[in-house]
Amino acid sequence: MYAANLHSLVGTRGLGVECLACQRRSHLTPEAVGASRGDMTEVRTLRLKCTGCGGQKVRLFVLLTPGQIGLWLGGQDVGAECPHQSTYVPYEPGTFRA
Ligand SMILES: [Zn+2]
Repeated sequence: MYAANLHSLVGTRGLGVECLACQRRSHLTPEAVGASRGDMTEVRTLRLKCTGCGGQKVRLFVLLTPGQIGLWLGGQDVGAECPHQSTYVPYEPGTFRA
């Protein structure tokens, strides 16, 4: 697992995103997610929403080469997986939080 942030995405090929609800995959360029030098916002806190089903729980991979974009979209897990936590559904009903 790799805790990427918007700073570390500069110079990569961006993010491969897979919706956990419908398995739709897409590719987001560094520009599309606002990558910039000095921005330490963690990628796992990005607010992402599936354009197919509206799902907000995803798997994220940082794609490192142009070739990985095509492989990702074709269904292969390539690049560096990093954790994502939905900021819309932070807890299950009935659990406690601080
Ligand atoms: Zn979906």
